[in-house]
Amino acid sequence: MKAAAFDYFAPRTMDDALDLLARSGGSAKVLAGGQTLVPVMAFRLAQPPALVDLNRIAGLNYIREDGDAVLIGAMTRHRDVERSETVARHLPLLSQAIREVAHPVIRNRGTAGGSLSHADPAAEWPTVAVALKASFVLRSAKGTRTVAARDFFLSLLTTALSPEEILVEVRIPKRSDDARAVFLEVNRRHGDFAIVSVAAQMEASRAGEVKDVALVLGGVAPVPFDAGRLAAPMLGRRLADLRFEDVGRAIAGELSPGSDIHASADYRRDLACGLVVRALTQLREKF
Ligand code: FAD
Repeated sequence: MKAAAFDYFAPRTMDDALDLLARSGGSAKVLAGGQTLVPVMAFRLAQPPALVDLNRIAGLNYIREDGDAVLIGAMTRHRDVERSETVARHLPLLSQAIREVAHPVIRNRGTAGGSLSHADPAAEWPTVAVALKASFVLRSAKGTRTVAARDFFLSLLTTALSPEEILVEVRIPKRSDDARAVFLEVNRRHGDFAIVSVAAQMEASRAGEVKDVALVLGGVAPVPFDAGRLAAPMLGRRLADLRFEDVGRAIAGELSPGSDIHASADYRRDLACGLVVRALTQLREKF
């Protein structure tokens, strides 16, 4: 099948791109890596009358440090994130997760901004962004605003972006030196979207007491499932004394995942419990 006819614009500046989006009245779509949008258009599941291609706008592909944060430009390819020493050092959770995104050819083209804006609940970027308390810089012709990841994902494939906005930058706080990270997922074949994923990051004192914990699951709800509240009873306790099965069961008990051709709801819940236990066990071994 071929895509329906559309107008194609390749602006050289962000101002021009924003102007094109504003003038389209919100009907034009932004084209980033095209790894989702192009197949969706080819199947005619989306028929935007116009595409605004971001690929010729300079300065949107970068990874840089800014004080306590790492800044990632929206057009940064998954492959650049995967190869970044800055990301490996300061955002090890993202570094682990990005290797699970599709296959190298797709990672060569797919972008941070595209993945986050598409907001697939099984995708790695949204899950990690919520776990790491990322925020997103959104621009439109009217101005700029910053939205926290936890407020950005609204429902299935739906975000806080208005049709005239472009996600231009991802800001992620660096992990503390006392933090360790584990990202795990289960899928049928490597490169497939996760059936369930777990993004876990923990901070512990030298005495082995839990100081901070982030635990977010993908694939179990329309948006990343933040299990921070259910993991909170671990805070202040010695890692050696914790029974992670209790945490896994508490989280699984709160999930209402859907059933589809990949997995039943019950299987997803069991998987979530098992992955949480495995992630926390692996985290404990890292201290
Ligand atoms: P595009 O396809 O260009 O755009 C996607 C959507 O986001 C469009 O609606 C577009 O208008 C909008 N958009 C893009 N950029 C912006 C922006 N800066 N601001 C506002 N809106 C924007 N992903 C995973 O996470 N995990 C996987 O395991 C995985 N497996 C895949 C397997 C296959 C076979 C394929 C084809 C894709 C897979 N993907 C997977 C998707 C891939 O990661 C894409 O890169 C990603 O979903 C979209 O990024 P993109 O840059 O290609 O965006």
